[in-house]
Amino acid sequence: MSDASQTKLAVWAAGLLPGELAGALGLRPAFRGKQVFKWIAKGASSFSEMSDLPAPDRERLSGLPLYSSSVDEALTGADDSVKLKIRLRDGAAVESVLLTDAEGRMTACLSTQVGCPMACAFCKTGALGFLRDLGPDEIVEQYFHLSAIRGRPSNIVFMGMGEPLANIDALRKSIAVLTHPDGLGVSRRKITISTCGVVPGIRELADNGPHVRLAVSLTAATDDLRSALMPVNRSWNLAALKEALLYYQEKTGDRITLEAAIMGGQNSSVESAAAMAEWIRPLNAQVNVIPWNPVPGLPYHEPSRAEASAFEAELERRGVNAVRRARRGRGVSGACGQLGDTLGASLLAEEDEEDEEE
Ligand code: SF4
Repeated sequence: MSDASQTKLAVWAAGLLPGELAGALGLRPAFRGKQVFKWIAKGASSFSEMSDLPAPDRERLSGLPLYSSSVDEALTGADDSVKLKIRLRDGAAVESVLLTDAEGRMTACLSTQVGCPMACAFCKTGALGFLRDLGPDEIVEQYFHLSAIRGRPSNIVFMGMGEPLANIDALRKSIAVLTHPDGLGVSRRKITISTCGVVPGIRELADNGPHVRLAVSLTAATDDLRSALMPVNRSWNLAALKEALLYYQEKTGDRITLEAAIMGGQNSSVESAAAMAEWIRPLNAQVNVIPWNPVPGLPYHEPSRAEASAFEAELERRGVNAVRRARRGRGVSGACGQLGDTLGASLLAEEDEEDEEE
């Protein structure tokens, strides 16, 4: 088999459903695909391990790599969070984070793009720019790499590098693989898609799923301030966002999580909280108040504890359920808005080296 065909098969395997695997791997009959799917979900590292496949098939597939990505670096923080730098098939890299809460519940924070095109002013990933979308295999493999650390995380948040709803086909496919009952079987209610407010994507989720939890980065509830902090607001302003969220709630009946990353002196005032409470009023939503995590080179500073408390109290006083998010992951720069620091200046670091060799 040529190198090209080997690469193609390796790219597909972890991102394929049982019904697709048999055809992609040339296996007959079709139930062989389900066997391979189960092995991958169990963490097999090669086709040779798949003992219920016929020996000739195992032999034929033995040279194929099962995964298209590998772990380059693992950093562990004082709060037990782990950040992985994952090298992709083309030399690009992404980061994924494992967060463990006080009850020992593990959450995998997965990336959907290399870099991000949305350019939120307070985000390290946004400052890196955008290289490309991830494929479903590259998204699912992040979960496998994180599972190899302390076992399978029960929760998944698509809150890593990139805007999930700007890569909705790969996102949808990866969720189908992650939740499939013959494989990992992750509960849909334990999966959260976090968007910066891509309105067509929210409507698409409302109409066609997948039906998982939705979180939206709101950050500010006046158009001027939100547009300054989040360029997405110039494409879909607060009125368009609210209309889409009301539509989403009408279709799904779900409560939505709104995220408010607050930066001292920017959007952390009591007036900002009051505007947010007014904007939220018709929605069934909880606000996660996230004191901004420092990112070297960005012109913001953390809010004081007093500012964050006053912001939260104003939301509550106006009848909004507000929760202060613990700053987990911060020790490894794996907290919200901090992803990307292991990647250096280039999202495709190895390409430069290869170019020099040529
Ligand atoms: S906050 Fe999210 S959507 Fe905004 S630039 Fe960062 S990764 Fe992209």
